[in-house]
Amino acid sequence: MLRRLSLVFIWLAVVQASPLPKNHRTRQYYDHPAVQRYREYIQIDTSIEDNLKDAVEFWKRQADEIGLTFAVHRPAGLPVCVVTWVGGDPSLPSIMLNSHMDVVPADPLDWTYPPFSAHMDDEGNIYGRGTQDDKDVSIQYVEAIRKLRADNITLQRTLHITLMPDEETGGLNGMLPFVNTTEFAALNIGFALDEGLSTSDGNYVAMYQDRRPWILKYTTYGEGGHSVLMPEDSAMEKAQRLINMIMEWREEQIRVMRTKEPTDYSGYNSVNINVISGGLAANVIAKTITVMVDIRLGPTTDNDELLALAESWRSRSGNGTRMEFVRHVTESVATPIGDDNLYWLALRDAITETGSSLTPLVCPAATDMIPLRSRGVPSIGFSPKTHTISRIHTSDEYLNVHTFLKGIDVYVAILKKLGNV
Ligand SMILES: [Zn+2]
Repeated sequence: MLRRLSLVFIWLAVVQASPLPKNHRTRQYYDHPAVQRYREYIQIDTSIEDNLKDAVEFWKRQADEIGLTFAVHRPAGLPVCVVTWVGGDPSLPSIMLNSHMDVVPADPLDWTYPPFSAHMDDEGNIYGRGTQDDKDVSIQYVEAIRKLRADNITLQRTLHITLMPDEETGGLNGMLPFVNTTEFAALNIGFALDEGLSTSDGNYVAMYQDRRPWILKYTTYGEGGHSVLMPEDSAMEKAQRLINMIMEWREEQIRVMRTKEPTDYSGYNSVNINVISGGLAANVIAKTITVMVDIRLGPTTDNDELLALAESWRSRSGNGTRMEFVRHVTESVATPIGDDNLYWLALRDAITETGSSLTPLVCPAATDMIPLRSRGVPSIGFSPKTHTISRIHTSDEYLNVHTFLKGIDVYVAILKKLGNV
């Protein structure tokens, strides 16, 4: 018996001395309902349009569970979901909490963990496409509402969580047609929050204006034939001239960018040539080359001046080169962020009361807020991703579970203010 007891003591001593399992710190989060719902939503691969129906089903279930109303609109075929919590005074203009269900594709070979597994590692980092862009905010909105309702808090204004189907491809079948429907008008939106940027410290940024996106497609033409010939003014020579001119302008933009703070996207334009295609075979001269250019116009860039520049690239590239617009947004309204915007003040106060700051920024990209702001809805891009390295649209996109959970409380504080403006 004594021997057996001492063996037990030895065993206990060994167990206590051995390090805790690696996932000890994060194990508790596997059972956290909000984390479960976040991971479940990440696991729906909405880079595939057909899977949007699963996302719609997911949102219907969330609404049913909480007792919120749920509607699906199809302004251009694809689903736009609206989850509504009616406020104490439904006659007041409502608050829109917008995000998008779609995500950009992910190549599993580039990822440490499968991109739609929502794997949580020992540090509590949850990996998956959409963890930062922007399924995080979607779940944080609804979890914040869950908390408010559980605490029997009522807000004066109605809240609408809106979920768009195709933000990543320009919103052509989502927000763009939706803002022109009677269903949208009936929502009576006074102010909108949408996806924002992460920050590396404990402070926050708010985006009040987006850059205007232009995607240009140039096609050059030349003589084809057997590759032993060397025709003058080939499609490839014209493409080379075109690319050189665009890259020279890109150099200029980079020089301006280097004079700015890293988060100041206001005084220059981003430009990248992202697709070059053409040619049939290695021994056949290409008759056409296609060059696609993605430009995001800074707020001070003049539409006409840039159009003239793009047109000059076309004509100087050589005879017959064509230019078409794949995307051509010429208006991006700014939301006023002065003291007369009560919604802005409510948002700012909610953040400053947590001891952090809220810095207004121009968004480097284009979001669903462009059509919203054009319809007269003041809209701010905001995301409570503090102490986070931005990994949107790249491999190994992840968000830490603590950041995710803290974000829910940030929205609770924001909605208490915004919902009672
Ligand atoms: Zn996004």
